[in-house]
Amino acid sequence: MESGEGKSLNFIEAIVEKDIREGLHDGRIQTRFPPEPNGYLHIGHAKAICIDFGIAEKYNGICNLRFDDTNPIKEDVEYVDAIKEDIEWLGFKWGEIFYASDYFQQLYDFAEDLIKKGHAYVEEQSAEQIAAQKGTPTTPGINSPFRDRPVEESLDLFRRMNKGEFPEGSLTLRAKIDMAHSNMHFRDPIIYRIINVPHHRTGTAWKVYPMYDFAHGQCDYFEGVTHSICTLEFVVHRPLYDYFIDLLMKSDYRPRQYEFNRLNLTYTMMSKRKLLQLVQEKAVKGWDDPRMPTITGLRRRGYTPESIRNFIDRIGYTKYEGVVDVGLLEYAVREDLNKHATRVSVVLNPVKLIITNYPEDKKEEMVAIDNPEDPNSTTHTVTFARELYIEQEDFMENAPKKYFRMTPGQDVRLKNGYIVTCTGCKKDETGKVVEVYAEYDPSSRSGSDTSNRKVKGTLHWVAVDDCIDVEVRLYDRLFTVENPSDPKIEDFRDYLNPDSLKIITNAKAEKYLADAQPLQHFQFQRIGYFNVDPDSTPDKKVFNRTVSLKDTWSKKIN
Ligand code: ATP
Ligand code: MG
Repeated sequence: MESGEGKSLNFIEAIVEKDIREGLHDGRIQTRFPPEPNGYLHIGHAKAICIDFGIAEKYNGICNLRFDDTNPIKEDVEYVDAIKEDIEWLGFKWGEIFYASDYFQQLYDFAEDLIKKGHAYVEEQSAEQIAAQKGTPTTPGINSPFRDRPVEESLDLFRRMNKGEFPEGSLTLRAKIDMAHSNMHFRDPIIYRIINVPHHRTGTAWKVYPMYDFAHGQCDYFEGVTHSICTLEFVVHRPLYDYFIDLLMKSDYRPRQYEFNRLNLTYTMMSKRKLLQLVQEKAVKGWDDPRMPTITGLRRRGYTPESIRNFIDRIGYTKYEGVVDVGLLEYAVREDLNKHATRVSVVLNPVKLIITNYPEDKKEEMVAIDNPEDPNSTTHTVTFARELYIEQEDFMENAPKKYFRMTPGQDVRLKNGYIVTCTGCKKDETGKVVEVYAEYDPSSRSGSDTSNRKVKGTLHWVAVDDCIDVEVRLYDRLFTVENPSDPKIEDFRDYLNPDSLKIITNAKAEKYLADAQPLQHFQFQRIGYFNVDPDSTPDKKVFNRTVSLKDTWSKKIN
């Protein structure tokens, strides 16, 4: 199907356009993004955010932010603040901020109403007993002995539950629906439980808390949500969502739930519970560790909001579960940074190169184009001198035929500098190369080259006296297996990649990087995309590798 802009619609946009055409709710569009503040947002949430906010933006509606804070045991304001920051960073604006806890009174009143109408009862059996009586999808469950207790008794018990007269786990409130229903969610679901932990917003005002199924749809209804978009695992919950809405509805208005395929990425874990475990057990440095799939981790790693949104746009929304290659996410950031990152030279593994025919006291300021992809690119200067650093890997004494880097007798170009001919090297007693020698051709200066010489290789370098020492952090995938969430895996921590972080403490960077600012993006020529880590000090800059220039991983596994 085509929208006005000629881009094909996803199935949710198609539903929304049909509803607008048919005049549903007078064309009013309202969505919500409903995170539980029990952890930081991850790249999977970005997919939900892009559709929830994207639909509202595209169809002149509103998307509210609603914190689904119905379980005080796991929730915290730290997460509320982080979630807001991440959504804004991704580039989205919410209409209003709501909390499920804003509706605790309304939800409680609705629960009492259900009890009074015979639609709910207080259960005294344990969670295990209830589970044992649930039946299976093909066999009916067994009615609770408390199912038919008098309304007055349930009402009295429910009120006393909320006064704190009973311990956690002793009593629950169950909806009285159908213990033989083919949808297991209808077999008298628990709708309220006792929790004796203070809530981060309502303190100790409440002792009973609504379950997800009793809160979500009703909150949608109270707020006036028109399209409640969520992931496919909620398909089986939808009939119950509609059941409670049916009991609440006072006019034609009702919210409707639509489900899309969640994002699963190879080599990536996306359960907040397990990510929290990694943080608590210090397997990573925190929620913003650049190896984490969290939005804050990706930001620190050097991902841009545009790259994340482009990635989500490319994978699209369907009704079928699947797994996306994490290489596609890496591709998206490479593509974006290629357009925006300033090109600089950093030598990770330095060895000295001495240009023996270059005057000892001479220095030249060479012009470096910040971004060759941009025809109007700015420039900066780099200092060329007799003593330089190049990568150890860029010199080989006895090189194979197709080695186009430094080897005695071979010409290479030093980027933004001159063509040089390698003349030899000096080794220490262990045979390690400690100095490389070359001669330069003064007529081959980049930008005014009259030498007419063609060379196959171009190397990056920095001047020994005009560079700074920097720390470089090289990241790799956090897990060694494609699906760390595989149910067959007993303990996902057994599959943590021991080489997911490599630290180089004394890389040599051109002096231009002394002024680099936190989170600024660079391309280290021939190496990859990097950004400045907030751990940087005025004395020592720290750089994170966002992504290598090319996908090297696919070669590694083959
Ligand atoms: P987790 O299982 O990681 O704890 P969650 O689903 O419990 O995640 P919520 O805070 O409840 O986390 O999620 C808020 C919204 O984000 C929900 O609408 C949920 O469907 C959506 N969401 C969560 N994970 C993904 C994912 N991997 N892909 C797409 N949407 C997701
Ligand atoms: Mg959830």
